Amino acid sequence: MPVLPISHYPDPVLLAVGTPLGEDEFGVDLERLAADMFETMEKAGGVGLAAPQVGVSKRMFVMDVAVEGAERERHVFVNPEIVSIEGEQIGDEGCLSFPGLYQTVKREMRVIARAQNLKGEAFEIDVQNLAARCIMHETDHCDGIVFLDRMTPLKRQLAKRKIKALQNKGKWNQN
Ligand SMILES: [Zn+2]
Repeated sequence: MPVLPISHYPDPVLLAVGTPLGEDEFGVDLERLAADMFETMEKAGGVGLAAPQVGVSKRMFVMDVAVEGAERERHVFVNPEIVSIEGEQIGDEGCLSFPGLYQTVKREMRVIARAQNLKGEAFEIDVQNLAARCIMHETDHCDGIVFLDRMTPLKRQLAKRKIKALQNKGKWNQN
């Protein structure tokens, strides 16, 4: 199975709002895209990957995170929506579109999200901790928002400096 090239910041596809998937877009092509995205994400060592990160400006992401009380499991979110958020968590976050950059980001602790699966069936998920962080990070990608935008101004400044250093060392090329 092919591994898709990952778009790196500041590729414009990462800053564009993704298009919702229409009913006629569910089917083998979308299943293939999801399978390729899982493969790409796993090879790159990530736990979540959104379609814009592989150059597809659509509202969709994949995630492989243990959801409370369950084993690590693959999830596909098509047309994700955040229904409600609460609490707070502060932790380091990374992004496959920002290779080598990890930075502290404050997020909500709990999220209830709604989406469709690959069959087009709607589902709702109520999660906390890493799964909540991942869903918010990936839903942001569908809205053209990157984790840099969620940092405090000081952390963002530090992050931009690190990005420049990584670019200068040639460690920021398209893969
Ligand atoms: Zn990301």
